[in-house]
Amino acid sequence: MIKFLDLQKITEQHTLEIHEAVSRVIDSGWYLQGSENDLFEQNYSNYIGSKYTIGCANGLDALIWIFRAYIEMGIMKPGDEIIVPANTYIASILAITENGLKPVLIEPKLETYQIDENQIESAITPKTKAILIVHLYGQCAYNQKIGEICKTHNLKLVEDNAQAHGCLYNGKKTGSIGDAAGHSFYPGKNLGAFGDAGAVTTNDVELAKIIRSLANYGSSKKYVFKYTGRNSRLDEIQAVVLNVKLKYIDREKEARKKVAKYYIENISNPKIILPEISDWNSHVFHIFPVRCEKRDTLQNFLTENGVQTLIHYPIPPHKQECYKDWNNLSFPVTEQIHKEELSLPMSPVLTEDEMKYVVEIINRFEV
Ligand SMILES: *Cc1c(COP(=O)(O)O)cnc(C)c1O
Repeated sequence: MIKFLDLQKITEQHTLEIHEAVSRVIDSGWYLQGSENDLFEQNYSNYIGSKYTIGCANGLDALIWIFRAYIEMGIMKPGDEIIVPANTYIASILAITENGLKPVLIEPKLETYQIDENQIESAITPKTKAILIVHLYGQCAYNQKIGEICKTHNLKLVEDNAQAHGCLYNGKKTGSIGDAAGHSFYPGKNLGAFGDAGAVTTNDVELAKIIRSLANYGSSKKYVFKYTGRNSRLDEIQAVVLNVKLKYIDREKEARKKVAKYYIENISNPKIILPEISDWNSHVFHIFPVRCEKRDTLQNFLTENGVQTLIHYPIPPHKQECYKDWNNLSFPVTEQIHKEELSLPMSPVLTEDEMKYVVEIINRFEV
């Protein structure tokens, strides 16, 4: 069986180093808000190219804190509108609704799966306060037009960088392009911890201060509470794991690219629609998405032949029960993607034999 993502094998590459690092934290007797956390925040800021990194409990919280901090700053208030792609993981949308803000869903472009910048301006109202772009599947969603729209309409640009660590736009890392970015280090992400972890990056000192406080019960001084925050901190053990794994992220990015190149050059089945790559530096291949009209048949065929695949994602946010009021809305492009998308095995440890086998099976697929 070729696994979709072999986390055990990814970890095995660094077993000794990680065991040594985790042991160091265990032996230190200091498990929260310590030197590993400080070091990770420094390392990650350097990597992304942002002034501040604030470690927190997970990627969803990172996004929640960004909007909450803007509310605390008086820049947004409940009822305000946030523009966001309709085809994203539910967390992007939850971060908005959790704050009493209103998501305004925008269709993606079918070729790239990224938010369609040409449909943004007609959705802007006096209540619009921000655009949340999602670098979905690891591909940069930003472009010049989005930047111009934000400037013209005085909107904050927030990035959901959960899937795109190390992705570049004109030499700049995603996560450093907008006003603030949320990052996830969920184990399956390109930079993954051994449990839940996340971070916010920003150049805004005020925003950084408020988020640090919100994620620590709303306190920046012990037993003094300025905000009704929550406990949303990054563990020292997760921080030390991330400090080790961050060293290898660029090498792993190249390995993922190699897999993607191999798939693109060798999958020749006309029933399979391959992703369009305009700039190989602007994609870190968290996911390698293909589309197929008979997606479910394709997935069964691959499973029967020992190739594990996943669907990202089977049900779009506006069709979920938790957002009942939107269930009748129509987003044809989004719905088509959710119906046709299939994610092929993708990881930095996929061997050439495995890639070859995946391609061989997929090229043999007939409807
Ligand atoms: C994973 C993910 C998140 C949430 O991250 P968690 O760490 O799982 O909370 C947010 N947005 C996107 C696009 C994601 O893929």
